[in-house]
Order: sequence, then C-alpha cells, then structure tokens
Amino acid sequence: SHERMTSLGRDDKRVFFLICRLPAIFFKFQFRNVEYSSGRNKTFLCYVLETQGKESATSRGYLEDEHAAAHAEIAFFNTILPKCDSSSRYNITWYVSSSPCVACADRITETLRKNKNLRLTIMVGRLFMWEEPEMQAALKKMKAAGCKLRIMKPQDFEYVWQNFVEQEEGQEAKAFVPWEDIQENFQYYEEKLAEILH
Ligand SMILES: [Zn+2]
Repeated sequence: SHERMTSLGRDDKRVFFLICRLPAIFFKFQFRNVEYSSGRNKTFLCYVLETQGKESATSRGYLEDEHAAAHAEIAFFNTILPKCDSSSRYNITWYVSSSPCVACADRITETLRKNKNLRLTIMVGRLFMWEEPEMQAALKKMKAAGCKLRIMKPQDFEYVWQNFVEQEEGQEAKAFVPWEDIQENFQYYEEKLAEILH
C-alpha cells in the first residue's frame, strides 16, 4: 500500500484524496502524545501537499519509516516532492507522531533555505530528544529557515483521525476518542517547545 501511495503522489499530482489510510491501531499507538514514548520509535508522517502553479492540486498520504529506506521526513523529500518547480508554490503540512531527529531537521532546514517557494508546517504529537542541546539547536535552525513547528492539539489529532485513518468498511465513521491525558500532554510539550524556540 505504501508503494501505491507514493506512486500516486509522484505520478499524478491531480489526485485529490489518496485511498490508502493509516490503520487505526497504528494511529492509536504511535500518535499518542505520551511523555515517555517507549516502543514508539517509528515515525508516521501524514501530509497535505498543496501545489499552486500552472496546475493547482492537493494531495494527501502518509509515510512511515518501516517501509521507507530513510526516515519518513527524508522519504517525503525523496519520493513525494523529488523536485521543486521554481514556478510553483508548495504549501506543505505534516502531521508527525514525533518531531524530527537532528539529521532530518538539518535536511528540512537545508531544503527550506534552497527552495523559497516552499512553506512547511510541521504538527508533532511529541518532541523527540528535546533535552539534547544538539536537537534544540537543530530545531532553532529549522525555525530560522521558516519552518513552522507546532505541537498537535486534541483537535489536530481528531483531524488526523478523520482524514488519514482507515475507517471500517460499511460502517459509519467512528468518532475520535481522545485519551485521558491528551490535553495535559499537549500542554507539557507546548511549554517545552516554547522554551526551546523562545
Ligand atoms: Zn530522522
């Protein structure tokens, strides 16, 4: 399903909604914004890519580390947006289970510096290795390059649930059920991020 999705994203920019969605069980485990994310060492990246140019299009999909040779963030640049046409504008929003590692953050910074026609907003469930000075420096550089980094609010998780997660066939879409500490954890990470990016 991953192959199908990336090929749709690459070959047919006019596809509006991709059929492949994230299995609910992955979403519930991987996106949960817990403070200690033991076992959650994969990155799930859901994206909305709006292209404004000769042809305007919106595409959506998701990437995960397991099927990609590289981290999901790098896979996005390599497979979903392999080249930036300088006559188009790209508005990209990522919903990611956790913030990027140092190497991915550096790649994001470099890509944004090189491509002024690219706007990137990253909504993250958790912050990854945020106590590390090297990680904090990489996030600051990302911000300086124009990347908007935000912690996912309860309504952002609901948005991902409604737009990227598989719903059982023949059944009415299930309502999003927030976990007990969702708001508290959002506030915790938002405070940490504000301290890092102040
Ligand atoms: Zn990475």
